[in-house]
Amino acid sequence: MIAAMSMNSIAADLRLFAKYHLKRRVFDYPARETELGLVELDFDSDAFEAELRDLAPRFQVETLGRVDYGGRPHAIHCVSPASTESRKTLLILGGVHGNERAGILAIPEIFRSFDQPGIRLVAVAPVNPVGAFELSRYNGDGFDINRDFARFDTREACVVREVLERERPDFVVSLHEGPQDDSFMFLNRFVDLALATRLAKAIEEGGASLARRDYFGRVLDPPGVAPMGIGIFLLTKLWAGALQMKSTGMWCDDRAIPEVTLESSWRNQDRDARVRAHVDLVTAVARELGAT
Ligand SMILES: [Zn+2]
Repeated sequence: MIAAMSMNSIAADLRLFAKYHLKRRVFDYPARETELGLVELDFDSDAFEAELRDLAPRFQVETLGRVDYGGRPHAIHCVSPASTESRKTLLILGGVHGNERAGILAIPEIFRSFDQPGIRLVAVAPVNPVGAFELSRYNGDGFDINRDFARFDTREACVVREVLERERPDFVVSLHEGPQDDSFMFLNRFVDLALATRLAKAIEEGGASLARRDYFGRVLDPPGVAPMGIGIFLLTKLWAGALQMKSTGMWCDDRAIPEVTLESSWRNQDRDARVRAHVDLVTAVARELGAT
């Protein structure tokens, strides 16, 4: 009985793993998540755009593209400083997975509270506007955009590529959420572990509790920090080579650009706490970049 149960649970785990890691196109529409306890945060795309436009005159908003779905266009915005004076560029990606809304909702507050001279802060949000509208991980055609940074079949991944090529950022932060109970960060190989430890401390000081395991069950030491070890690096290379799938972290790694992917807990009922972690992380990265 126990053996049968654990076989069933292994099968369920493998099925979930395959769903999230072995397919770029999981559905043919922006399906909603029903298995992993996602607590929905309200998102109104018109109110979001209005909040971005209120950042003027310090920051400007451009529409990078519109993706049609359900009889209406959904805009991908880019926010950047009106002034061009800066030494370093920090690029933020919000809402690559549209249902991970805390990382989208944080964008206006990130810019309102931004106060780091010499840093050019640029954000693309929502990277997946149809998913954000439909509360889906996937885009209008059912693609997981964060698996499309090898083939660039989706408009959304192409938009991110265009911005990265234009801005040539010194550091990228991608804002995500996940089903684990606490927050942690995936690092690519170009993020220094001591820096990541300070970043984790910064979000903890803002009230985030740091995960001691990632959602694959790996122990995180220090808590909240999931570096790309050599095993994961090779596995990810294999994944990219065999399946032509690549995340933003690995794609930035190929370009020697440090990238941090934040994963706050989408099970958390506290909207402000979820959003706070994203604001605090970006603020801390900007401060670190400004100090070097
Ligand atoms: Zn995600």
